[in-house]
Amino acid sequence: MSRLLLIGPPGAGKGTQAEILASTFAIPAISTGDIFRANVKKQTELGLKVKAIMDAGEYVPDEITNAIVANRLAEPDAALGFLLDGYPRTPDQVRELDKVLAADGKALDVVVQIVADTDEVVARLLKRAQEQGRADDTEEVIRHRMAVYAEQTAPLIDVYQARDLVVMVDGLGQVTEVTARILEALAARGITA
Ligand code: ADP
Repeated sequence: MSRLLLIGPPGAGKGTQAEILASTFAIPAISTGDIFRANVKKQTELGLKVKAIMDAGEYVPDEITNAIVANRLAEPDAALGFLLDGYPRTPDQVRELDKVLAADGKALDVVVQIVADTDEVVARLLKRAQEQGRADDTEEVIRHRMAVYAEQTAPLIDVYQARDLVVMVDGLGQVTEVTARILEALAARGITA
């Protein structure tokens, strides 16, 4: 019964950890990046709208992103808990998420900040580029995504810190090590699977 979110720079390993945590806690992992990519692949109206934005490493406009998340959170499987990966990324998205949850008398339980230094995450993303060929994984676009993260998203951590929701976890090391650190940090807050 947990409402979690993962925050951290591109390449910090959010997607990987989100999948593991979602299955551990039996809650859906909701990744805005995955939702957008699936739409680009299927060439839906949404996909056609966001493709160029994503390829450039820019953020999709808040009104589009907010509507998608609000709809997703309204699905029955998210009623008992969820793990958000890659949302919110802007102050407006924070406000919208607060509003959507408050309308149901709910709130976030914890924000997991995954920390990783820039050189390491750029190296990981370049490796992923070779393996998966994501259009936004060129070095230039990666650097831009990092800058957009630093400017628009990193400051949100302060907002959640002021609410005493943030647990900070080192994202370097093996996937299983990082998972263990997250589970330990959550357990320290009384959140167990
Ligand atoms: P990463 O965190 O590695 O950049 P994601 O898969 O989370 O990758 O996101 C890929 C792209 O999808 C982003 O660069 C952005 O264009 C778009 N996107 C994902 N989530 C959001 C969001 N919350 N707000 C705006 N755009 C988003």
